[in-house]
Formats: sequence, C-alpha cells, structure tokens
Amino acid sequence: MKIDNNIEGYDSLGEDHIGTSSNTPLRLDAFKLSNEEKIEIIKDDVRHIMETLGLDLTDDSLNGTPNRVAKMFVKEIFGGLDPNKKPSASTFENKYKYGEMLVEKNITVYSTCEHHLLPIVGKAHVAYISNGTVVGLSKMNRIVDYYAKRPQVQERLTIQIVKELQDVLNTQDVACVIDAKHLCVNSRGIRDIESSTVTSEFGGKFKDKTVRREFLDYIKLDTKF
Ligand SMILES: [Zn+2]
Repeated sequence: MKIDNNIEGYDSLGEDHIGTSSNTPLRLDAFKLSNEEKIEIIKDDVRHIMETLGLDLTDDSLNGTPNRVAKMFVKEIFGGLDPNKKPSASTFENKYKYGEMLVEKNITVYSTCEHHLLPIVGKAHVAYISNGTVVGLSKMNRIVDYYAKRPQVQERLTIQIVKELQDVLNTQDVACVIDAKHLCVNSRGIRDIESSTVTSEFGGKFKDKTVRREFLDYIKLDTKF
C-alpha cells in the first residue's frame, strides 16, 4: 500500500486547517478490506505507536487499549466512512402543504479533526424549505452524525450535510450552520479554550438575505423545556 504523503506543505496545510476537497479524500481501495480486517490491522498499528512511546503493553490497564481504539476507530468515530451506514433516503410527501422553512437546531456534532485526529464538538443547525418532499426530523440528525463520523474539516462537513439533504429532498433550498470547538485548537497548539469555529452553507432560497436572516433568527431562539 503506497500512500503519497510526502507532498511539501502538507504539514502547514494541516496546521492551518485548510481542507482540500468537499468530498472526503478516500483511496480507491478504501473498501477492499472488511471492517474486521481493518480492526486487526489498526490494532497492531496502535500497539506499535504505544510501544514506540515506551509504554508497557503487558500492564493490565494498557493491554486492551489497541483493540479498544481499533474498534472505536472503525465502528464508532470513523464509522461514517462506511457507505453501508449511510442513513436510508426515505422521504414523505408534504401532505400538510407546509411551505415555510423547517429548522432542526442544536443537533449535537461529535467529529474528529482530520489534521490532528482530535475531537470536534459542537452544534449543527439545519434548515430546508420543502418543494413537496419532507424527511423525518431524526433523519436530519442522522445525516449530520453520519458525515461527522469521519476524519473531517468543519467546512467540508457543513457542505456534505447540505449536499446530502439537497439530494434527499430534491431541492436546493437547504442550509446548515455549524458552531464547534476543535480540541486541537482548544487543548494544544494555541490552546485557546474559548474560541469556536462557525461555518455555514446556504443553498437556493437561503442565499436570499431575508430568508437567511429568518433562519439565523430561529437558531437564536433559546428553547427551554
Ligand atoms: Zn486540527
């Protein structure tokens, strides 16, 4: 397996958190191995990292870590790389003839920065205006979660969520705003615990200032139950 990662400037690119594409950069052979095979390989890799750091893997506390991390990578935090986990595209007819925007706000985002493999934690706010098709509300959460569970840059995650909903709903009128903390910024490097990153993508009618304003005003609603 040859991976060309010696391109000059890649290090600084990562440090500046610049993504290179709106599609997750995947190898052509990304799905040749089964998830179980991937876990076995990654297990050895994690063990190697830990041993290189000088840790004694015979210690009871560390013994199970390689297997635990490998399973967590493949099945949980990077599980959204697996196309089989993509939320099903079931939609419904808009029977109520509800023609205004629908906003699903404060969707929890747990993702991983692809430059440092550290957590990104935040909230996504997603909206669409139906042109005859609607989706179940939880579908929007599931789509956010699916694309979040990959090595990510926040800009790409925002775009991927919008594109997926545009496909599913058969309309351009979709928007997404994400406000998130990147632990690679908060806990290391510049170590700014207060800063968060906001990204947005506005499709179709949401490019209109008034529509966009309405969406952003809904996000600001402080819903208490
Ligand atoms: Zn990072």
